[in-house]
Amino acid sequence: MDKKFRFSIWYFIIAFWGLIMLQEIYLASQHLDEVPYSQFKAWLLEDKVAEVAITDTIINGKFKPAVQEEKEKWFKAIRVDDPDLVRLLEEKNVEFSGVIVSTLWKDVASWVIPILIFVAIWIFMFRRVSQGPGGSFMRIGQSKAKIYMEKDIPVSMKDVAGVDEAKDELLEVIEFLKTPEKFTRIGGRIPKGVLLVGPPGTGKTLLARAIAGEAAVPFFSISGSEFVEMFVGVGAARVRDLFENAKGKAPCIIFIDELDALGKARGAGPMAHEEREQTLNQLLVEMDGFDPRVGVIILAATNRPEILDQALLRAGRFDRQVLVDRPDRSGREAILQIHAKVIKLASDVALEKIAAMTPGMVGADLANVINEAALLAIRKNRETVEQADLEEAVERGVAGLEKKNRVLSEEERKRVAHHEVGHALVAMLIPGSDPIQKISIIPRGIAALGYTMQLPTEDRYLLTRSELESKIAVLLGGRVAEELIFGEASTGAADDLQKATNIAKLMIKNYGMSNTLGAVTLEQGLGQSMFLGPNEHASREIYSEETAREIDQEVRLLIDNQQTRVQSLLTQIKPVLVQGAKKLLADEVMSGKSLQELLRSHEEPKIKQVT
Ligand code: ADP
Ligand code: MG
Ligand code: ZN
Repeated sequence: MDKKFRFSIWYFIIAFWGLIMLQEIYLASQHLDEVPYSQFKAWLLEDKVAEVAITDTIINGKFKPAVQEEKEKWFKAIRVDDPDLVRLLEEKNVEFSGVIVSTLWKDVASWVIPILIFVAIWIFMFRRVSQGPGGSFMRIGQSKAKIYMEKDIPVSMKDVAGVDEAKDELLEVIEFLKTPEKFTRIGGRIPKGVLLVGPPGTGKTLLARAIAGEAAVPFFSISGSEFVEMFVGVGAARVRDLFENAKGKAPCIIFIDELDALGKARGAGPMAHEEREQTLNQLLVEMDGFDPRVGVIILAATNRPEILDQALLRAGRFDRQVLVDRPDRSGREAILQIHAKVIKLASDVALEKIAAMTPGMVGADLANVINEAALLAIRKNRETVEQADLEEAVERGVAGLEKKNRVLSEEERKRVAHHEVGHALVAMLIPGSDPIQKISIIPRGIAALGYTMQLPTEDRYLLTRSELESKIAVLLGGRVAEELIFGEASTGAADDLQKATNIAKLMIKNYGMSNTLGAVTLEQGLGQSMFLGPNEHASREIYSEETAREIDQEVRLLIDNQQTRVQSLLTQIKPVLVQGAKKLLADEVMSGKSLQELLRSHEEPKIKQVT
């Protein structure tokens, strides 16, 4: 289709050019010496004229050969209304014709030229719209995805650090691409799509390229935004094209970067974007339509998995999600080492110190720190990069970082560490709480300064009263730990308090778990939609003001009780709290297991259970 179209464009251009040439000849003829009509008539009477061509306005004449020597061959006169002219011409035997052609040309030209100009402008605009170099409007439907062959990808897994969990998960993908037979022989199903999720700059794009580099397979990469065009259907055509290409090159990897640009939930937002939806649908169709055994694996990356269309995440599509998280301290050190390879370091440089200074920074930030340090060294005319340069670069980086992602002072980090260990210890000591998976004080975003990850052991549909109370206790653990160590609480516990209060309210109002108010529900029509969860606006409160006051009292009592319980618990194991926080401060992340060991080694405390 492409070629044919180009062809017809050439026709246009040739026709246009021809038209101009003809016009040119015509105009040239008009530039002949213009003689008065009377002169023309005189020549006519003198038998000097051989032939004439008469138009509406002009008479073009040609002299007889005999006269041609003294004059030019042609002449031109403005025509006047002369009824005798024709008779005279006949009389003198002059060949004559009315030249309609010239007026016809004019008519045609007056139509065609504006159209051609219009077409030219249109083409020009179109080219600009279909953006970028190489993207001409004759190639709209084609995928701009570039095929990187193995030699083009010098990246290997060695160039990625600090994201060991993600790397481990992706090793299997590499295995498969290298030896697909091994997997298909038993009939195992390979994941079709693997979605890399994580904050910006943690190395998702880098990882995808590393996989392709390791597996030595072709790598089709395209950014989600490149699919979204202004013309409906173009993005969809591009998706079709991409998959078509990829299937021909299997085993290979298709990598869609910034998947959220195209994978936003359909119908979300005020302007449902027709084009994007079509493209997304096409992607879904293509992902369903191919057999993973052909050896095409689709990788995608996003830093906003929450806005993705659910259909993209279901089994058979991007059913495997790999978290590419912010690196911890040792991870940061490893990343610094990778990037420091290209610069000359002075002997005083201690990268582990730099790693300790940069909690919250991601790979891209660290690469930047190294680069900045090198620039600083160059500015100071030094041969090597010194520790001072690196530290200065960190400070600069941190200043920028503070805006997008708070960097905590030492004092604040201490507080966060105790807070998180507080949560974790309470969860470990109170029966009925989910086990602690991981504690971290690597800040993520503005909201969470640290977090404690609890893993539910099983899916729960029913919770008992004591289990709910345990949840409240764990939520209070952070705040109580802060009070215990620093003498006062901080704003960091606001979110915990809100959650605890919500649980307490539900217990009293909805579950009838209050001693004084009894087993009545105080809220009608929880407003549960079967698939959407509770709808606050649909619920109706059905109690008097008096009862409202009682509810408030009950909620407070419930929380106070738990607070006392947690206070006495944590006071008993204060040394463990302090030790755990110290370890967490140093390592930034801590597994639940190692805290458990710390707790156990603390000479099996005789903990009174406070109820
Ligand atoms: P993302 O796609 O997650 O936003 P990128 O993969 O584009 O991040 O990372 C940008 C750059 O930062 C990389 O090219 C690399 O130089 C550096 N970088 C990021 N993460 C890492 C990492 N884990 N290890 C080594 N370098 C990293
Ligand atoms: Mg990226
Ligand atoms: Zn907390």
